[in-house]
Amino acid sequence: RIVYISKSTVAPVSEAVSNIARKSLSRNMQLGITGFLYFDEKIFLQELEGVRSDVEWLYAKIEADPRHSDVRTILRQDAETRVFGEWSMAFFDGKASDNELRRRFSAEALDELSEVDGPEILRLLREISVSYDPSKAIARSA
Ligand code: FAD
Repeated sequence: RIVYISKSTVAPVSEAVSNIARKSLSRNMQLGITGFLYFDEKIFLQELEGVRSDVEWLYAKIEADPRHSDVRTILRQDAETRVFGEWSMAFFDGKASDNELRRRFSAEALDELSEVDGPEILRLLREISVSYDPSKAIARSA
């Protein structure tokens, strides 16, 4: 799995995510990649999980995407089980709820961070996913 954080270069982010979702769901399903994309007005936070070579291939594409910048890998680890196995990609709008990630991260805060605790971020993403409300999300896998 890989978890990264990045700054959005587009606004509104939710519109960009709709476009990303259109392409992502079919490709992720094809590759067997699952995960969670959290976004806020200015940041993206995404977890990608699957076969290592596929995850690395997709991540290289995502890193080069001009819709965001300052892509920073915060966790890269071998894992035997998936955290978000039921979603080709769940898309979660941080504004949809009061949550710890929203409190903790802003694009400004990102500038100041020298180190982000990857496992802690993964824990927070998992926490959000437990209360995941598809009606507040932009898209999810079928
Ligand atoms: P093309 O659509 O032909 O893209 C060609 C190039 O143009 C690429 O560099 C692409 O990044 C860029 N591009 C495409 N559309 C736009 C646009 N509307 N505005 C600006 N540039 C554009 N893809 C997935 O498959 N799965 C994911 O989980 C996933 N997550 C993403 C998360 C984030 C935060 C971002 C920003 C992108 C994500 N993407 C994801 C999209 C990914 O970066 C690629 O755009 C996508 O996989 C298609 O790439 P392509 O080269 O095959 O196709």
